[in-house]
Amino acid sequence: MRMWATRRTAMLATVGAVVLGLTAPALAAPPPAAPKPSPTQPDSSVRTTGVSTTGILAAWETAASPVAPSRARRPLAGITIALDPGHQLGNSNPAHFAKLAKTRFNGTTVKGCNTSGTATNSGYPEATFVWNVSRFVKKRLQRLGAKVRLTRKTNSYDRWGPCVWKRGKFGAKVGADLLLSVHADGSAPTARGFFVIVPAVVPGWTDDIAAVSRRYGQRMIDGMAAAGATPANYINGQMLVWDNITTLNFSDVPAVLVEVGNMRNSAEAGFMVTRKGQRAHAKWLVAGVRAALQR
Ligand SMILES: [Zn+2]
Repeated sequence: MRMWATRRTAMLATVGAVVLGLTAPALAAPPPAAPKPSPTQPDSSVRTTGVSTTGILAAWETAASPVAPSRARRPLAGITIALDPGHQLGNSNPAHFAKLAKTRFNGTTVKGCNTSGTATNSGYPEATFVWNVSRFVKKRLQRLGAKVRLTRKTNSYDRWGPCVWKRGKFGAKVGADLLLSVHADGSAPTARGFFVIVPAVVPGWTDDIAAVSRRYGQRMIDGMAAAGATPANYINGQMLVWDNITTLNFSDVPAVLVEVGNMRNSAEAGFMVTRKGQRAHAKWLVAGVRAALQR
């Protein structure tokens, strides 16, 4: 399905129209009224401030000059991110095991609804870690102008799921430009650092998103590393192209899963469980998103 591409093209056309709408009346000065704000640009009112100033040059400068600072402050305006904090705390609650045992074919294999995820050696769960990081990611993305939708609204021992196929479909459901699934690994004690998993081509499933997801994934790696994240020392090129990840296979928008660190590496985990560490991981992820979308 290519709806994301169509939507993006439409959005870019709208942005172009807004720019033209700002410059045309300025050239024809004096403008009769401030240009109509575009519904896709919630910050457009900032740009149009001062348009009523008299004089061609004054109108030109006041109308045109705020565009750059506004874009600089809100580089993700018009972008929607589907943010998927992996697992759910209650996936480890036996009361939910029957529901979590539900299975579905994902294009290559039959897999279960969801799992409890990994944990640090002292028992700090991945579900809680990715939930905290994702909340920081959401705040940062919103500050940059993005719309953010989460695949789960809680981190609770009383809740389960949603199933991975639902998370995968969520991106298209909310018209996202990117589905970002946040996880942490549970690998060997000496393994450390982040890596990404992107969908391989699975005909009829991911053939529409595999190439762009891989491109976004590579840019995320570069962006995160440049921002200070530790590249994984156990994954070649920090990227796995896999054909059996249900979340990715069910996605109809570009999808990247990030394993942000290894919870079984005690040094790395010691940082991951702190608020400071979680904020840092969020900052790196957001740098990756901006790199992926070239914003
Ligand atoms: Zn996970």
